[in-house]
Amino acid sequence: MENIKNRIYIFDTTLRDGEQAPGIHLNTREKLEIAQQLSRLNVDVIEAGFPISSKSDFHSVKEISAKIRDRKIAALARANPKDIDAAGEALKGAEQPVIHTFISSSDIHLKYQLKKSKEEVLQLAGEAVKRSLKYTDLVEFSAMDATRSDREFLCRLFEMAIRNGAGIINFPDTVGYAIPSEFGEMIDFIFENTAGIEDVILSVHCHNDLGLAVANSLMAIEHGVKQIECAVNGIGERAGNASLEEIAMIIDTRKKDLGVYTDINIGEITRTSSIVKSLTGYAVAPNKAIVGKNAFSHEAGIHQDGMLKDRSTYEIIKPEDIGLKSSKLVLGKHSGRHAFIERLADLGIRLNENDLEKAFDRFKDLAEKKGEINDEDVRAIAENEMREVPEHFVLKYYEVRSGSDIRSSSKVGIEIAGKINEGSSEGDGPVDASFKAIDKITKINAKLMEYKIEAVSGGKDALGSVRVVISMNGTEVMGSGISTDIVEASIKAYIDAMNRIIDSAD
Ligand SMILES: [Zn+2]
Repeated sequence: MENIKNRIYIFDTTLRDGEQAPGIHLNTREKLEIAQQLSRLNVDVIEAGFPISSKSDFHSVKEISAKIRDRKIAALARANPKDIDAAGEALKGAEQPVIHTFISSSDIHLKYQLKKSKEEVLQLAGEAVKRSLKYTDLVEFSAMDATRSDREFLCRLFEMAIRNGAGIINFPDTVGYAIPSEFGEMIDFIFENTAGIEDVILSVHCHNDLGLAVANSLMAIEHGVKQIECAVNGIGERAGNASLEEIAMIIDTRKKDLGVYTDINIGEITRTSSIVKSLTGYAVAPNKAIVGKNAFSHEAGIHQDGMLKDRSTYEIIKPEDIGLKSSKLVLGKHSGRHAFIERLADLGIRLNENDLEKAFDRFKDLAEKKGEINDEDVRAIAENEMREVPEHFVLKYYEVRSGSDIRSSSKVGIEIAGKINEGSSEGDGPVDASFKAIDKITKINAKLMEYKIEAVSGGKDALGSVRVVISMNGTEVMGSGISTDIVEASIKAYIDAMNRIIDSAD
């Protein structure tokens, strides 16, 4: 990249902070799918999880470390020996491990959360960095709630981390409170008052509570910060993190003015967003910048007219640059395996042999019912195959009765350990009756928190996608199902969620 010297590193936290968003529970297999896609997207660091927080997080970090060799893999740890050892262990197989250790720095957090003095915090931070270095040579140190901290103390804390060997210093706006002008000033203050800061990478991690995460990140870049922490589709705690695709496209679109670049492979943005959306179940608003469904549609007559004359009249990004292709080609029931595989490849979707077989079966099934299969359908089928969970409960058959003058009823057959169990129930509508019938069989006492239905593509025979969120003993899981029949899609989603409850209990 001539003329543009300043590289900005992209630290992706979709699998850590993003996964902490309420209602998101990815299993190891799903995290690995996302990590593989992040590697294709070419992020610099993949933060894979918080190993001490759960067995499954530990396992996921370990798996990602073993399989993704071409990226730095980070794991989070509070500034204490147990956390750091867990992170170090989980990262053992990584080619380029990063331990990301943190401690609170604001007076509010010191008083109410940590119950420690500033002196103690300084000491803990130094020790944490030192201990982390036993496992890796790259340690990132974060000061939690940094933007609400005493600036002098913050700089002393950063100096302590740098003196002990931290290579990345992260300045997070944990609660999303900062406004850009002030955020820029604070960064200037850190650069001017922290000994050794010029020898490390200064990073920011912005939250979107006031809708300013991306604006603050951009301000940080303009003030000399070299690493941005962000998440695909902006997912994360509460209102989320700075959105990766927005940061990447701001920099790409305005690189001459900003004088910086990233290594992000922007052609993978659409696919990454779509996979994260499918696997997390977190919807993307239609008007979301870059990846929203309507981000490139022109409705107004005058805009359409301009677009027909020259695309640059109203378009600052070419949709195909971020991998958004619209093809008019459709597949049908006579399309063979080869055509299906080719279309998957065109869409940039990679499935393993096993999933490919299952996806192809589903495709044939659907083609039989629906006739024409478009790109959105193919994508939905493939992404549904990626969210795999061991099937404790297998749907065998169902039968519903409903109408204007009868009370709905449903009969469902589910196989458990090779044996078919049948349940039947009445309910308010066929979906409710089916869920009640399933409850009788599974005997899982979960609460339905969310039920959402969406058409995957247009038309009366559109493929319906159903997502449910169920909760049991404080654990929430998301189930999904697709079918041309919305009752069937609902039943599949509900059983998928039940299988996930069983899976998460192990
Ligand atoms: Zn965060």
